[in-house]
Amino acid sequence: MCKLCDEGKPQDHSRSQLGRRDFLKASTATAAAAAGMSLFAARPAAAHDDDDEAPRDSGRRGRRYVIRGGHVTSMDPAVGDFVKADVLVEGKKILAVGPNLHAGGADEIDARGKIVMPGFVDTHHHQFETALRSFLADGLLFNDGLPHGAINYFQYILGTFAGVYRPADVYISELFESLSQLDAGVTTSHDISQIHYSKDHSVAAIKGSADSGRRIVFGFFEGARADLLGSPPGAWYPGGATELKEKYFSSSDQLMTMTMGGEIYLLPNNPGDPRTYETAWKIGRQLQIPIAAHIVGSFGMGPEFDKIAQNTLNNTANTTKFGADNLFIHMTGMSDMSWGAVKLAGAGVSLAVPIEMNMRHGTPPILKTLAMGIPPSLSVDVEVTLTADMFTQMRSTMNLQRMFMNARALGEPYAAGFPNQELLTTRDVLRFATIEGARDLKLDNKTGSLTPGKEADIIILDAQAINVHPLNVVPGAVVSLMDRSNVETVIVAGKVRKWQGKLLDVDLASLRSQLEASREFSSCRRRWFRSTSSSFPFHLRTLPATITVSTLLRSMSDTTAPGTTLSGCTLIASASRMMMSASLPGVSEPVFLSSRRCFAPLMVANRSTSRLVSSSWSGKPAA
Ligand SMILES: [Zn+2]
Repeated sequence: MCKLCDEGKPQDHSRSQLGRRDFLKASTATAAAAAGMSLFAARPAAAHDDDDEAPRDSGRRGRRYVIRGGHVTSMDPAVGDFVKADVLVEGKKILAVGPNLHAGGADEIDARGKIVMPGFVDTHHHQFETALRSFLADGLLFNDGLPHGAINYFQYILGTFAGVYRPADVYISELFESLSQLDAGVTTSHDISQIHYSKDHSVAAIKGSADSGRRIVFGFFEGARADLLGSPPGAWYPGGATELKEKYFSSSDQLMTMTMGGEIYLLPNNPGDPRTYETAWKIGRQLQIPIAAHIVGSFGMGPEFDKIAQNTLNNTANTTKFGADNLFIHMTGMSDMSWGAVKLAGAGVSLAVPIEMNMRHGTPPILKTLAMGIPPSLSVDVEVTLTADMFTQMRSTMNLQRMFMNARALGEPYAAGFPNQELLTTRDVLRFATIEGARDLKLDNKTGSLTPGKEADIIILDAQAINVHPLNVVPGAVVSLMDRSNVETVIVAGKVRKWQGKLLDVDLASLRSQLEASREFSSCRRRWFRSTSSSFPFHLRTLPATITVSTLLRSMSDTTAPGTTLSGCTLIASASRMMMSASLPGVSEPVFLSSRRCFAPLMVANRSTSRLVSSSWSGKPAA
């Protein structure tokens, strides 16, 4: 499964959580024979002579080390905060937090001048898109019929690129992104990769995340374009959830857990069938795993969400209802009635504030969620548009709420109907980015705060750095001043994964080249990326946000559609992309245009179509 191993560059998979038994069987036998003892026997760790070394064997059972003399912000009111204190770690757990802890001869991490706090928790992230980073930095969620909406998320990221992802592409994007966020101090993420066309795709997503050694909640969602067809023919969502849960997530004592994707906009596969989400929610509840869904007003989800809310409020028997096991993402533009039902059910709410502001999901409902007494968690959503660090999330959330409240305080007309709320503080948003995220992912018994007994997901932030020093207020310094460059050390379940500014056990050069190869597995795609760096030569104005074959054919014949300024070739190009999307997952390997004039990632299903497209564009037969 590991590409590097397959290519003759053996990797250390001892951190891998999935397939862990197999890895352990192989590696334990060899290493234990060499050492003449069990690798997992408890034994005290000797102090190092060299202060620059990370604690040895961190995370292993019985191994102790102490993080000494840092500014400890526990995010647990029962533990409190300390100007100067220690955190004692044994194996993968936090043993004690407090001043002057006795640690025997345990290794020490010198945290003087540093902030010690729980790792960040990101509750919604499409990790499979890493190869497409910044592709959509100027784009919208959907096509609004204007030039700025031409390059949009639904048509391009889900409708075009996702459809040609091979399992190997999924693997490297998942792994690269997991490591990248680990580097930024995000020790837990909820991966919502809508790429589950086949079992191989799902296993690749799981393995890519697992090989990073990070805490990941694996979201089993549809394959993109399922919004057209319920679930593409042959796709194994949602039914494959049971097999995945049994095979990879049967133990509660592992870094990875699972959620069920339950998008309410998915249509049934056949007329008369239940909506796909009803089946998905049912399976999720049978498996007793959380159920997550995007809830986006600008995508027309309000009426369906209201319907479920009504069922919840009326306690209607045998229907889909909200529960404490739900995590609703975005929640833009939802009715008061639905919010009431969400609150009543105790469901979680994840906000991706910068993305919502940028991509037209609707105004982030930060005022609403606070007014309802639902503390939100924060999520980065997509790196095709914005960064995946949590500093950006915290600052954006705090500043947006304060902008609204400041406008209200100043009597600015647009703020007239706003509720009167306390201004958010840096500590509030720090809570959203840690313990509230853990709660929403049902992991607050394991992570989200520095609480003795929880697993040691810890970050050490450099408060002496030139962008922060001198340290005056800890939450203020973290939220208002810091960025990922201040993340010096990252620990996941006791294991040191980043040490003094550098990720451990990562061959970044090799991973980079794999990611590039994934992005550029066709020359046509590469050309297109280059061409977009200067200007984009066409607009797909007539195509609606959700494309179906019939609407496509309609737009091709209806030249009076709003915004129609298309050349025939653009429509044909769109048609070819549509065909590619609609034929998933039967298309094993996309065929790319070889024409020098190719202008788009024309991931068409057959050569005759590609000739047609190329010919239409250049006016000559395809080369
Ligand atoms: Zn999303």
